[in-house]
Amino acid sequence: MVKRIAIFGSTGSIGRQTLEVIAAHPDKFSAEVLTAYTNEKLLIEQALAFNPDIVVIADDKKYEAVKEALSNTHIKVFAGENALNEVALMDCYDLMIAAIVGYAGFKPTLNAIETGKVVALANKETLVVAGDIVMRKAYEKKVPVIPVDSEHSAIFQCLVGEGRNKIEKIVLTASGGPFLGKKPNFLVNVKRDHALQHPNWSMGAKITIDSATLMNKGLEMIEAKWLFSLHPEQIQVMIHPQSIIHSMVQFEDGSIKAQMGLPDMKLPIQYALSFPQRIPSNFPRYDFKKPSTLTFEEPDMRTFRNLSLAIDALYKGGNMPCVLNAANEIAVFAFLRNRIGFLDITAMVEKTMEKISFIENPSLNEYLDSDAEARNYAASLIQL
Ligand code: NDP
Repeated sequence: MVKRIAIFGSTGSIGRQTLEVIAAHPDKFSAEVLTAYTNEKLLIEQALAFNPDIVVIADDKKYEAVKEALSNTHIKVFAGENALNEVALMDCYDLMIAAIVGYAGFKPTLNAIETGKVVALANKETLVVAGDIVMRKAYEKKVPVIPVDSEHSAIFQCLVGEGRNKIEKIVLTASGGPFLGKKPNFLVNVKRDHALQHPNWSMGAKITIDSATLMNKGLEMIEAKWLFSLHPEQIQVMIHPQSIIHSMVQFEDGSIKAQMGLPDMKLPIQYALSFPQRIPSNFPRYDFKKPSTLTFEEPDMRTFRNLSLAIDALYKGGNMPCVLNAANEIAVFAFLRNRIGFLDITAMVEKTMEKISFIENPSLNEYLDSDAEARNYAASLIQL
């Protein structure tokens, strides 16, 4: 049986690598839905190469260009943000790879779960925004949510075969990003292009900046809480600059399982697509014969305060992670446009968390309102 894959965010870093995996296994997977935001050129190229059932261009100004380019094919073309939500509800696919960046990925992912589709989740923001609602819905609909994030895929892989064995804690590893060891007097002058140079991973712009500020690890802690039903105190972060151990689980007998490999997102992507099977790959292998040292150290949370803000949000719960995420998206957007400095990202997130009212048990609408309020407030701080 060929698994029919919908790639929401096919033109991004995860989306493109998913297409590489699909291309390597045409007997196992087909790409049936491809979506982009504004990159119509790449979307058209991908559509012509993979011949999906549907493409969606979220920016409706690009509709005519896509429609025209695909007019000699049977591919259906839709446009607009609402089309993403509607296509997510359709029956033309079996598994969604949720690879849109940021809050924009939330509703399509929730819709996929609503209709009982397996979700391979790269878009961590979905769980940061409203993890309780998403995971409750997945439980009700009996939908597997398979992590794509390398750390969560590592934990997920370590848990296979462990049944109900209790987790004592998990250790999320972090490369530390390009500014590992740096102090605020250095960070204050950091510019966009420098922050975009990640030492180990090649990723989209937003997550690369989040990795440089360590916000990414904070978002991942919140993501892990929901994916694996953990208490905040069971989640530890360790800096592991080599990015060979992708994360670890410690069980209640003290035994630790780790998942290792070279840093290559195609591996967790392929695992999420093929789960519960493993299928062959030609990805480069880790070579134990080459000299290398694996090191671990505690994160410097006095310098990288985004991580401690995310931990505050994790412990506080309610709408706080949603507020943190919204403020961070606005701040990173502004930093990428050279509107604010690197350390201003933290200041904006902190001020927004102080400003927005806390709601302990938000409804879906209260999450959506908290997101909008936090975005507006964060944007007002810099007159975006
Ligand atoms: P990219 O920025 O490379 O790609 C984002 C994708 O989302 C693109 O297809 C983009 O379309 C689309 N998109 C952006 N904004 C919107 C919007 N408003 N509406 C609809 N579509 C939109 O991101 P990544 O691939 O790096 O990351 C995707 C997700 O996966 C993120 O949540 C990230 O945290 C997570 N992730 C990524 C990893 C990586 O290695 N890249 C690792 C682990 C997790 P267009 O190209 O047209 O702009």
